[in-house]
Amino acid sequence: SPSAEYKALSVETLPARLGGIDAITSGVGADPSQWSVQEVGDGNLNLVFIVSGPIGSVIVKQALPYVRLVGDSWPLPLYRAYYEYHALTRQAARAPGSVPSVLHFDEDQALIVMEFLQPHVILRRKLINGERVEGLAAFLGEFCARTAFRGSELSMASADKKSDVSLFAGNVEIPAITEALVFTDPYYDAEMNNHTKGLEPVVSALRGDVPLKVKVQQMLQSFASNTETMVHGDLHSGSIMSTPSSSRIIDPEFVQYGPMGFDIGMLCANFLMAYFSQPAHRGADAETYQGWILSVIEETCAVFEAEFRRLWASERTGMLYPAALFEDQGQDSVPACDAVLAGIWRDAWCVCGIEMHRRCLSLAHNADFEEIGDMTVRARLEARNLMLGADLIRMCDNLSGAGAVCDMARDFN
Ligand code: ADP
Ligand code: MG
Ligand code: MG
Ligand code: MG
Repeated sequence: SPSAEYKALSVETLPARLGGIDAITSGVGADPSQWSVQEVGDGNLNLVFIVSGPIGSVIVKQALPYVRLVGDSWPLPLYRAYYEYHALTRQAARAPGSVPSVLHFDEDQALIVMEFLQPHVILRRKLINGERVEGLAAFLGEFCARTAFRGSELSMASADKKSDVSLFAGNVEIPAITEALVFTDPYYDAEMNNHTKGLEPVVSALRGDVPLKVKVQQMLQSFASNTETMVHGDLHSGSIMSTPSSSRIIDPEFVQYGPMGFDIGMLCANFLMAYFSQPAHRGADAETYQGWILSVIEETCAVFEAEFRRLWASERTGMLYPAALFEDQGQDSVPACDAVLAGIWRDAWCVCGIEMHRRCLSLAHNADFEEIGDMTVRARLEARNLMLGADLIRMCDNLSGAGAVCDMARDFN
């Protein structure tokens, strides 16, 4: 389609403006006057439309030139759609079947047309409702391991990986949100912060803890300068859509090259927050479901390890840890894999603790806690979450694994 000046779509203008795009007409129907359009964006940043017609439905996601959550006082570059598009194609190649397929991309309009996932529901909603998803841990563990391994120089040719790093290095403003909201704001009195009344003693303990803040800043330095693999960058339970038995990952606009433990660490934090919030949503019945959530964390991490080790043994084609240094000399490379995994878990648990902090203390909170109406209950549950987060950051070098983390979570009840 010819290049045209960016203009935000609306429910009213979408059929006329996108009616000539084959990828949409072939998925929805040739006559745009028969399309029905619904705006469903529940995220903080973008417009998302479901476009339906006689043949079927597609999703149209369009970036807005500002942060939707805040308004046009906070501008944000449209180029993030370009990075989201390139992230989706790489995730589809590295972890087949894990993301919606892309049907069309228009860089000028900052829009992506993609497969409509149905009857998928955002996982965070399912977790609040107490619903289980079969195969969730295997899906998530494999997604994180495959994207981490196959996006790194354990697997990729260095020239390809370096050119990818340089492509995604242009995504500056979006990771900057993470650098501020996730890694920095929770630990000082930043302007956009807010937290539940009653948390003040825990908050001031965190801000008074210099060694903890040093560890968080070390992790930020690593996030900003360690380009070991392509990370999703925003892998919380609102970026996962599930049916009772299948799941997909969406919304990788925060993509960048970063530490291999970043995505799985953020993911585990969101399960831990679901865990801590459950007593307010399930009451006396919470315990069984909480046990399921912890089992998902343990199994996701176990699958991640197993899949990473499998890829190490079968797909180690990059310049790192070459067979010439190990297998070709009749030696075992398992100790090397152990060491790489230890570094991944160290970063993962540190990121996990930081994510647990920022969701209660800085700008963008999560519905798991936000939907708790009783502020006293909410403060008590959020305090547990903040304290475990601090323990994970402090102990990230010495944790024996997800089982130990889940035991620590249980100890807060
Ligand atoms: P944002 O970047 O603004 O957070 P998301 O990509 O997370 O936007 O999409 C916002 C919402 O739109 C999701 O929470 C989900 O409900 C819906 N959505 C997005 N992509 C799809 C899809 N491929 N299929 C079905 N629903 C989708
Ligand atoms: Mg989103
Ligand atoms: Mg969002
Ligand atoms: Mg997003």
